[in-house]
Amino acid sequence: MRRCSICGRRAAVYYQRFSGDYLCSTCLGRRIVRYIRKAFSVNDFSLSPGQHVVLLITPGQSPIARTVYELFRAAERPFTSNIEARLIDAEEPVDIIAAEERAVRRAGEDVVMISSSLEENLLELLTALMKGYDPSLSLPLRRAGRITLFRPFSLVPLMDLYAYAAARGEVEATRPKYLYEELLEVTVTGPELAYSYKRVLRLLGNVRARGESVYQGRAG
Ligand SMILES: [Zn+2]
Repeated sequence: MRRCSICGRRAAVYYQRFSGDYLCSTCLGRRIVRYIRKAFSVNDFSLSPGQHVVLLITPGQSPIARTVYELFRAAERPFTSNIEARLIDAEEPVDIIAAEERAVRRAGEDVVMISSSLEENLLELLTALMKGYDPSLSLPLRRAGRITLFRPFSLVPLMDLYAYAAARGEVEATRPKYLYEELLEVTVTGPELAYSYKRVLRLLGNVRARGESVYQGRAG
């Protein structure tokens, strides 16, 4: 039995490639909760106590929806929010941006959380570029009229979520395929993914701060 690199006591159930850590299910769960809290703090975003929020669960996470909901619940506990989880429905292959936009409009709430993970956020950027959508639709925090949209799982790798769900015994059904998903396959392992995603976000942020259109950033 290989022991967990963090607690050194329990049996490891998962090898997190980019950190090189072997993790038990407890330490993996805690690490994911920390990533979620970090997304709140780096985006300087918090919920009001008792706030009613809708958590939209992405198609790629629908087979592990219960785990995703419980991780979010654990991470936002200090806010004591009233959370309502809903699945985002879509036809395969899922156009992640179009599916989310539809679900957000249907949610009819002022504060909407989208559960998209690190890989799914990068896929959103790729989808925006491929389909000519506004790339800022994939930002971790954005306001659309009176609606505030936040992505609390934007620093959490999807493979960590699946590993944690499997360790807890949540049945693993096949997840739906995303449009352009094959473009991600070369980048889904290692720290490069998080690094390039953050770089693109910073770039988008700079362009927006200068008041330029994201499409004409250079030419305009
Ligand atoms: Zn451990």
